[in-house]
Amino acid sequence: MHAKTRTTATVPARDQLFRDRYSVSATSGSSGRKSIIVNNAHEWTTIIASYGRANEWSGIRTGRAHRVTMAVVSSTAAWHQSSRVAATVRSPFVVSERLDASSPLPDIVARLNDIQPDVLVAYASMIRVLAGEQLAGRLRIAPRGVNSSSEVLTAEARSDATRAWRVSPFNVYAATETGGIAAECDQHQGMHLFEDLVIPEVVDDDYQPVPPGASGDRLLVTVLFGRTLPLIRYEMTDRVRLTTRACPCGRPFRLLEAVEGRTDDVLELPGRGGGTVTVHPVVFHKVFDLLDAAGWQVRQEEGRLEIRVAGAGPGFDDAGTERAVYAALAAANVAPPPLRVSVVDTIPAGAAGKRPRIVAQRRSDRQSTPSTD
Ligand SMILES: [Zn+2]
Repeated sequence: MHAKTRTTATVPARDQLFRDRYSVSATSGSSGRKSIIVNNAHEWTTIIASYGRANEWSGIRTGRAHRVTMAVVSSTAAWHQSSRVAATVRSPFVVSERLDASSPLPDIVARLNDIQPDVLVAYASMIRVLAGEQLAGRLRIAPRGVNSSSEVLTAEARSDATRAWRVSPFNVYAATETGGIAAECDQHQGMHLFEDLVIPEVVDDDYQPVPPGASGDRLLVTVLFGRTLPLIRYEMTDRVRLTTRACPCGRPFRLLEAVEGRTDDVLELPGRGGGTVTVHPVVFHKVFDLLDAAGWQVRQEEGRLEIRVAGAGPGFDDAGTERAVYAALAAANVAPPPLRVSVVDTIPAGAAGKRPRIVAQRRSDRQSTPSTD
């Protein structure tokens, strides 16, 4: 069911329903547990509408008077929710070209140059890589809109995209289990939670509520429209933070200030005073987002950290990077483990085409290779 589709963008026909009634999407199992989600027609329509709302807020209108070509650099696996959504919304007015995020970068760049999309949709890590390609002159597209999803959109990725295409990207927070959960409005102050569709609860490790302004350890979501597979206080391993401010746009939905990464991306490293220290992805984002490089990945392997840097530019300095990582870890009270910085052509993508920034060794499979999709 989840064979990789690398070269062709297969989109299942819109009438492919399970038992003639249910749309089926599956996650890539990046958290170690694969979910298969079934939705009836009403639920599926609501999920489509949640993505439609995110598009609408980002100024993308579609319809008879607004024909739009979208390029979606994502997973092209047929079971992936974005493929299912594309199959449903396909119409003469929305041309959705799907590109496999795990294919080689030059292929993606060539195909985008060919498509000349009005709207570019990609994982946040890919947005930054593509912005780098545009600034280097290899990618030559002029999208009216740039939307990012599924990953942390860092300030640097945002500013690279803005420099590359002169549009500020719109971030969308979504999950296969829920559809859209939150999206940015044109004020770019954070993402408004879709509180008419889900009840989000930001909690700590003990499932106690975390106030706005503080980061939670988990997010619980209750999907208000789900009846086929009811999800009540369903646990997402995302670290998020609500803002204490109201958005000037006046929308009633609360603002999510940041998605700081997944709890799975948290590394547990030996502490300077003994014991273990929990290191959040933001520690690495702060170091690596200033690098002259297109991408990076930190992998925790037996007792050491492997750091891969892709598309290093002339300003890249591996010894300096190593020192910066040591300093950041020391500041986080970690007794830094041995680490190695290596320059690679591209960061390998997992099965769903995502290139995770942090690959933690899971407690449960310390013996085997960590999954990366
Ligand atoms: Zn707003």
